[in-house]
Amino acid sequence: MQKLYEAADRVEAQMLKDYLEEQNIATVMLGDFLSGGAGELPANLFPALWLVKDEQLTRAKWLIDEYMQNKIESKSGAWRCPSCGESVDAGFEICWNCSTPGKKVK
Ligand SMILES: [Zn+2]
Repeated sequence: MQKLYEAADRVEAQMLKDYLEEQNIATVMLGDFLSGGAGELPANLFPALWLVKDEQLTRAKWLIDEYMQNKIESKSGAWRCPSCGESVDAGFEICWNCSTPGKKVK
C-alpha cells in the first residue's frame, strides 16, 4: 500500500475517497484514528488516504490533481477551456490561449 494524500481534515479526505472510488480506485483512510493514545503525542493528526493497489498510483495522483484544480476553479469562478483545456480567469469570456468562448459552455 502506498500513501497517496494527506488531507487537511477528515471531510476533505472523505470527499476525495468517494471521488476516487467513483473512478474505481480503492483507498483506505488512516491517520485520524491514531490520536488519543495514552499520554502520547499524536503521531499524525491529519487523515491520510492510502492506495490499495500500487499500480494505480500514477492515475490516482493525476485524479487528485484534477480534483484540487477543479475545486480551486469553482471557488474563484475560473473556467476550463473546452477546446485547449487551459484554465481561464473568471473575468474572461474567451480563452486567452485559443480564443474559444467558454463561459456559456460551462
Ligand atoms: Zn483554449
